[in-house]
Amino acid sequence: MAVATRESTFIGGAWVSGDGEEIEVRSPASGELLGSVTGSTPAQVDAAVRAAADAFPAWRRVSLLERVDLCRRAFTICMERAEDIAQTISREVGKTIRESREEMIEYTADHFRRAAEDVLRHAGQVLPSTQERTNDKRIVVVQEPIGVVAAISPWNFPVDIAGIPIVYGLAVGCTVVWKPSEQAPLCANMFAEVLADAGFPAGTVNVVHGGGETGSALVRHPDVASVVFTGSTRTGEQVARDAGIKNRVLELGGNGPQIVLADANLEKAADAAIVGCFYLAGQCCTAAERILVHESVKDEFVAALVERTKALRVGDPLDEETDMGPLCTSEVLERTREHIEDAVAKGARIVVGGGHEGAYHEPTVLDGVTSEMRIAREETFGPVAPIMTFHELDEALAIANETEYGLTAAVFTRSLHDAWHAAEELRHGTVHINETTNYWDQLAPFGGAKASGAGRELAGWIIDALTETKQITFDLGD
Ligand code: NAD
Repeated sequence: MAVATRESTFIGGAWVSGDGEEIEVRSPASGELLGSVTGSTPAQVDAAVRAAADAFPAWRRVSLLERVDLCRRAFTICMERAEDIAQTISREVGKTIRESREEMIEYTADHFRRAAEDVLRHAGQVLPSTQERTNDKRIVVVQEPIGVVAAISPWNFPVDIAGIPIVYGLAVGCTVVWKPSEQAPLCANMFAEVLADAGFPAGTVNVVHGGGETGSALVRHPDVASVVFTGSTRTGEQVARDAGIKNRVLELGGNGPQIVLADANLEKAADAAIVGCFYLAGQCCTAAERILVHESVKDEFVAALVERTKALRVGDPLDEETDMGPLCTSEVLERTREHIEDAVAKGARIVVGGGHEGAYHEPTVLDGVTSEMRIAREETFGPVAPIMTFHELDEALAIANETEYGLTAAVFTRSLHDAWHAAEELRHGTVHINETTNYWDQLAPFGGAKASGAGRELAGWIIDALTETKQITFDLGD
């Protein structure tokens, strides 16, 4: 692999060496050293924000068509490099090559096309005046680019998630400073090169590397106008405190319930649970972290789930046949083990899996899970399907709503009445009927209720977060 670069910080259109500590990147699958970047110092964070602030006045005045052309050019370059970047993602974070290609082709590259289309169709409003009894006033409402956007991203979708505020931010006329995850800086630099080679002017996009301190310095910088943060709820709370009155979007953790009612299509519900629990080895904010099954169909459902779980191929993330790779970090592995141990100590039973070797954890089905177990209350972020049972729908809804999280929920039923009732009662940002929790649409609002976040992203919803809404009043009298 030849992606390691010492010139790892991108400020004002130039790659410069970070003056901070070296960050080594190792494959979670093999432990192999993949490369390293140098972290950015607070002075470099400041320089990156100043470069973005300096570039903003000219960039916001660049014609819309020019910005759209750059997005289209970036789409082409991103598609040409998608395979290389996908391979790097799989090496750095351990997600399977099929998952990494999906991230690059379906999500990341297409952000450029979607942003180009969305900004072309993004319209303001002309409102009538209701303050006076005349017909003289016209009130125009426009959304102007907010200024410098700080994009801070996690490792599980290391390019796609950052790509949302970066690409949409550039498309609407903002400038950006990106602090990628310290677990995945190599693919981040490759994506920054796509942006630079597409021709986005110097200073419009900047990259700094490092951990929490670097992210915090960026969030607190007075010239940052908007913070788009994706990561854990704990970090998000700190980011919210640091951001103060800045505009912000917080996309945080989840503990998604999948509810399976007695009348559900159990085969479909089992397929959905496989995707919900084991896609990306469970390391998804929208993962099905609790499977709530009606007691009358629990045995049949668990049998269908176990059969599918046993068929999953766990192994090298770069092998085309692999369904599930390793866990990305030792913290995730440790927490997964702790949650299973805690559950077993409190009466749960491992039906399949439970073991681990190195960074690999077996896909695990755990029966007899109850609300007081840690696995039912906290985000595990590992490959476990915890099965809980209930007697009636309202009991399931109460369990589904009882944790601090509220990102995505799924309900499996053939009853229109029950589906509608559940959709209204679930305190989650998204409710899917007869679809896995790990489902999202790039044109639909994405975000969480309660401790899962604040604000929404994707398509027009992220534009709201990247712009300032301004009223301009005209008096036509005289
Ligand atoms: P994390 O919170 O540890 O780190 C996220 C990012 O924040 C990293 O770039 C990190 O360096 C940075 N950071 C850490 N401390 C900071 C601080 N004080 N100020 C500013 N930045 C700081 O999360 P992670 O382990 O990388 O990702 C996993 C978590 O992200 C899970 O909880 C998952 O549910 C969540 N997630 C949420 C979504 C969503 O859209 N809701 C999507 C993906 C992941």
